[in-house]
Amino acid sequence: MSRPWWLIPCALLGLTCGEGGGYGVDYDGTWIPVIDMHLHPGDWDAIPPETQTFLASRFPFPLNLRPDRTADQVLSATGIVGELDRGGVHVGVLFAVYAPRTVGVATNELVEAGVAEYPKRLLGFASLRVDDWASAGEGELDRLEEALAEPGMVGIKLAHAHMHFRMDDPSYFGIYELAGRLGKPVYLHTGSSSFPGIALEPAYTDPAYLEPAIAAHPQTIFILGHLGYDFVDHEIGELETCIELAHKYGNVYLEPSALGSEGADPSGENYPTILRRIREEGLVDRLIYGSDGPQSPGFVGEYLERTVTAMERAEYSADDARALLSGNFIKVFGAEAGQ
Ligand SMILES: [Zn+2]
Repeated sequence: MSRPWWLIPCALLGLTCGEGGGYGVDYDGTWIPVIDMHLHPGDWDAIPPETQTFLASRFPFPLNLRPDRTADQVLSATGIVGELDRGGVHVGVLFAVYAPRTVGVATNELVEAGVAEYPKRLLGFASLRVDDWASAGEGELDRLEEALAEPGMVGIKLAHAHMHFRMDDPSYFGIYELAGRLGKPVYLHTGSSSFPGIALEPAYTDPAYLEPAIAAHPQTIFILGHLGYDFVDHEIGELETCIELAHKYGNVYLEPSALGSEGADPSGENYPTILRRIREEGLVDRLIYGSDGPQSPGFVGEYLERTVTAMERAEYSADDARALLSGNFIKVFGAEAGQ
C-alpha cells in the first residue's frame, strides 16, 4: 500500500501531518489536512492597555471577567496547540510582532520557545523593530537573520500599518533582500485594521504600494495577508489589486485570514465572494490558509468551519480546498523548511 501523499511533503517539514488521525476536515467526501499559517502567541503584560481593552471586549462571558487569565491560557504555546486540537488543525505558524505602539510585542524568542516546545505542531515567523531604522536598522537585520537560523523559523512577518512604515519606502528593502537571500517568505498585512493606533493612509495599507518592492525582489516570496480587506467598513477593499499583483508576479501569494470572521464579515457574503473571485481568476494555486487566531477560545476552529462553508459557496473542488488548506503551504515552505 502506498503512503498517503501528505505524509511525504509533511516529512520535509519535519512534521507528521496525517498521522494520529483526527486532524483535518472532510471536504466533499475527501479528507484534507490543515495548516494554519497565521497565529499570534502572546504575553498579556506586553500588550498596550488600549489593546488589552479591545481584546477583552471580544472574549465571551464569563472569560471577559478575567481577560488576563483567559489571554495567558489561550495565547501561550500550549493554549494555541489546544486550540489547534479543538479545531482539527494539525500545524500552526506563530508570528512574532514588534508593534509596541499598537498591537504590542511578541518577541522572536517567545515564538522560538513555542516552536521548540511543540516542534511537530508549530513553526514560526520572525520579525524585527523598524521604529529607529536609521540608526538601528542594520543591527535589526542581523538580529532577524539570527532568529531565522533557529529551527522551525520559516518566514518573516511584517505589518506596515501597525509598525508605521510605508510599503514603498526603499530604506526598508533590505528586509526583502535578506528574505530572498535566505529563502524565507515574507508575510505582509494588507488592508485597514480596527486596532487602535494603526496608520490607515493608503501607503501603509494599500497593496499597490508594495509593487516596487515585489518587482525589485523576484527571488522573494510576498504573501499578501488579508487580501487588502477593509476591516473598518467590513468591505472587500483592495482585493482586485492583490489579484492584479498575483497575475503580474509569480512571487506573490494570497492569504485570507480574519476577513471572513463573524466580526469582519457580518453578512457572511464577503468571504465566499472573495474566494470565488480568486477561483475565477485561476489563482487558487496561490492561496495559503490562515485564521489570525487564536483571538478568543474556539476561534481557530470556527474560522476553519467558516472557510469550509465559504469554499463550498464559492464552488471549490476538493483539489482547490486541499491547495488552500495545506497544499500550497507545503509547496512554498516544504523544501526550504526541511533543510
Ligand atoms: Zn494577525
